[in-house]
Amino acid sequence: MENLLRTTAERAARYLAGLKNRGVAPTPEALANLRRLDEALPEHPTDPAAVIALLDEIGSPATMASAGGRFFGFVVGGSLPATVAASHLAAAWDQNAGIVVLSPIAARLEEVAMRWLLDVLGLPPAPGVGFVTCATQANFAGLAAARHALLQRRGWNVETQGLFGAPPITVVVGEEVHVSVLKALMLVGLGRERVIRVPVDGQGRMRADALPLLDDNTLVCLQAGNVNTGAFDPADKIIPHAKAAGAWVHVDGAFGLWAAAAPARAHLTKGFAAADSWAIDAHKWLNVPYDSGMVVVRDPRHLHAAMAVNAPYLVIGESREPEHYTPEFSRRARGIGVWAALRSLGRRGLADLIERTCRHATRFAEGLRAAGYEILNDVVINQVLVSFGDAELTRRVIAGLQADGTCWAGATVWQGRSAMRISVSSWATTEDDVERSLEAMLRVASDVEATAPR
Ligand SMILES: *Cc1c(COP(=O)(O)O)cnc(C)c1O
Repeated sequence: MENLLRTTAERAARYLAGLKNRGVAPTPEALANLRRLDEALPEHPTDPAAVIALLDEIGSPATMASAGGRFFGFVVGGSLPATVAASHLAAAWDQNAGIVVLSPIAARLEEVAMRWLLDVLGLPPAPGVGFVTCATQANFAGLAAARHALLQRRGWNVETQGLFGAPPITVVVGEEVHVSVLKALMLVGLGRERVIRVPVDGQGRMRADALPLLDDNTLVCLQAGNVNTGAFDPADKIIPHAKAAGAWVHVDGAFGLWAAAAPARAHLTKGFAAADSWAIDAHKWLNVPYDSGMVVVRDPRHLHAAMAVNAPYLVIGESREPEHYTPEFSRRARGIGVWAALRSLGRRGLADLIERTCRHATRFAEGLRAAGYEILNDVVINQVLVSFGDAELTRRVIAGLQADGTCWAGATVWQGRSAMRISVSSWATTEDDVERSLEAMLRVASDVEATAPR
């Protein structure tokens, strides 16, 4: 075991060091090589070192280099050194973080990480927090808590009675709601099409002046950080109004809420702390390994009611039982990554990570605009939407850039316009990475223009 772990750590270090000099997307040869994994289940045991060698030799080249500094696709982020190392140790621990008695250390680290998280994000103290796999699952858990609270007011216990025959809940979302909120609505039985969609402005923000009539039977889903533009719904206008009407406000803050940690960006998150529940990702902007997200619910009783079950063999103690706040029962101790990230960064380091990535995004926008390309969004945080002309030109530039390998960014269609979406979310991105990537974007774009039919 000892030798195996040492040589594996060496392989991992070599992989990460190699990211500087390889293309961001895997080569066609690396992808073709994946065929070698398509073998019959071996009849006999194999030496673990040989298994790891196979994994590294075929697997490592076939990865997307999203752990490096020049991956700008989706909103992904890398993994901070302390979090990669902590997850190695945590894998050796093999803790089941579901209940305290199974892992006192995991439970304690979750409590510490939770306290720090609420502090840096400016969220109310003493809520219910669940360490879940991702923001989709956090949205699911937050909406389950909302469903519980809204139906309880109507004298309906949804956990025991289910939804058949329950009083209906009105659900309000913005026109540019993230698809994961719709998925969460589908999972909690509220339906993804029976929602009221509120029109948005030119940045994708929900229009406060276009809200429907809200009441104490309404669930309002706001967004902090539009997945295309990075824009924030006007929480300071909508939440006081929604709360006065008695509505439940849920915030999908997957990456955007982290802006609260950077003093120069914190104003964007103004008002969001007044909501009832929040979904937050750690594997995006906090830069912890997959998978990691958090649900936060102002009144812990609602999350507890939506998630907790009991059985005589479970040995439930006096303290907070993690599994009472998550859909998962047995699960890995993902609070360790959140703890390691915050413990290694400190308040200043986190502020710097957020601010630095936002500045890199601004540099991309300036460089592309200076070359004559249209930036479609106001670059308020780490997201940039650029058009290289019409949809076909933009598509060809994105394909050319992905094949070039210097960096990787993806395509989107936003408010009817085709664009390349650049998200700067990784701690590993340096100024040099940004300049190299910008140079590649401009080079590929001018090559595409040179060969475009007139
Ligand atoms: C990424 C994202 C999600 C979904 O997050 P996962 O961690 O992939 O489940 C939800 N909402 C927004 C705004 C996002 O950017």
